[in-house]
Parts: sequence; structure tokens; C-alpha cells
Amino acid sequence: MRRPRHIRLLALLLAIWSSPALAQDVTRVTVLVDAFSDRAGLRMDWGYSALVEHRGRRVLFDAGNNAGLFQHNVDVLGLDLRNLDFVVISHRHGDHTDGLKYLLSINPGVAVYAANDEYFGGPTPSQFFARPVPTLPDRMRYFNGVVPDLVPHGSPWSHAHTQRVTAALDLAPGIRVVPNISSGKSFSETPELSLVLDTPGGQVLLVGCSHPGIETILESVDARTRPVRLLVGGLHLVTTTDAEISQLVERLDSHWKIQSIAPGHCTGEHAFALLSQRFGGRYHYAGVGTVLRVDPEEP
Ligand SMILES: [Zn+2]
Ligand SMILES: [Zn+2]
Repeated sequence: MRRPRHIRLLALLLAIWSSPALAQDVTRVTVLVDAFSDRAGLRMDWGYSALVEHRGRRVLFDAGNNAGLFQHNVDVLGLDLRNLDFVVISHRHGDHTDGLKYLLSINPGVAVYAANDEYFGGPTPSQFFARPVPTLPDRMRYFNGVVPDLVPHGSPWSHAHTQRVTAALDLAPGIRVVPNISSGKSFSETPELSLVLDTPGGQVLLVGCSHPGIETILESVDARTRPVRLLVGGLHLVTTTDAEISQLVERLDSHWKIQSIAPGHCTGEHAFALLSQRFGGRYHYAGVGTVLRVDPEEP
């Protein structure tokens, strides 16, 4: 005998309510800006941005390369960025920041977490004043010879509520940012934040450009002891040789035990090819408009 409709509806609601994978428990990463896509109507651009939904929080990770294009993609995807818990900007480069112009126009009060970089405000690096020459006449000396303790540095985002992050920081339960600094030849000394989401099956790690090196970042999040179940974002291998990429791909799998990967942005086409070969079904396409879903109950 069929139960009355309202009883069936109640049973369904109870089933959803008691389900371990409630909709809000599923972590979602929606790619808003990147240079490849399989979805009509969205625009491609060299840059990166993703909307992260995790444990009921909405976090914007990076803001793309062009405010107008960023707004276009956000609108086409039907997203409302007036309702965000916070913004994380991985690093200062224009291909990760320009969309802040749009974002701050609709959501000026949002908390922005940024790398500890003078570009986001804060003091001008003190080394500029570290070699004084007292024998020069005062009028030739910086600040006429009396340098203030902290010389402010201008920022395009001086009106934003920005907090520069100098050490790993919990933003909310299960959501944290981890800073690293690039020491390589390219973009030396560029500080960069990565975003870490804790799930029962392991960490979800979002990276902007990985200028400090993806292995440095993996070390900083203890990836060997706290497995990364999904790595998302740019690995900056566009100019890396195939031999070096092959070695790294092998290490990501066998040494760092990355369970699955959704590379984008500056990872590069050669690395896309080698990663998809190595990871097979554990490689996830992540072009503009892709929604990556991480179910907390799945290993
Ligand atoms: Zn960059
Ligand atoms: Zn970039």
C-alpha cells in the first residue's frame, strides 16, 4: 500500500536530514577564472579564481585577471559574492587580484586574507633604509636622516579590510591558510598563501601559482602525515622541462601520496598531459565553470 504523499515527503526529508552527506557537508570548489573551459558562455583568461564552499562557509580564493571578465563569469554561474565569509588572495600578481575591483565594489566590508607582502599594505621593506650614509647632507638623505619605524607602503587595496598572514592561520573550523615564500629564480621572495580544507578523508589543498614550489607547500601542510585527498590550482610548471615535470609527477604520486588532482592555471599543458597519464581516474578536469565536489564520507 502506498503511503500518503505527505508521509512519503516526510520520509524523504528525514532520509536527507539523517544522510551523512548533507548537501552543506559536501565541499565544493567552483572554478571562476582560468584559461580553459568546456562550458559555453563563460570567458577564458590567464589567471585564477575559485569559489570554495566548505562546512557552510563560502570563501573566494583569488580573483582572476580582469574585473569585468570575473564579474561576467560570476554572473553567468549565478553566484552572489555579496555573501562571502572571507576572501583569500594567494599572492600579489595581477592575474590573481584584478577581480578585487569588482568584488570590493559589491562587498566592501569582506575580510581579505593576503600574503605578507607590501603590495597589500604594511611597511615598506626595511632593507631599503638599512644602509644609511650619515655623512651625506640631510637634504639628500631619506626622510632627511630620520626614517620612521614603519614606512607605510601604498596598496591598490588600501580600502579593503586586509589582514596579511605571516604564519599558518585558522580562518574557521577546518579552513586555514598557510604561507610560504618563493626562493627560486622566478618571483624570488614572493610570499604566497595556500588554502587548506580539512575533511574526514584528508586535506583539500588549493594553490594559486605555487611560486614557492609545490613540494615546499606540501611540506608546509605536512602532506606526508596528513594526506592530501585533492590538490587544486596552479603548479607553475609552464616553463619547466619535461624531464623535471616527469620527476615531480612521480613524486606527487609516490612520495607525497596525493590522492587526486585537479590542476589548472600555470600548471602548463605538458604537466596536464603527464599528470593525467599518471593519475588516470584520479585526475579531475577543472576548467572554468567546473564544480569539484568532495564528499566527506568517501575515502
Ligand atoms: Zn603568480
Ligand atoms: Zn598566476
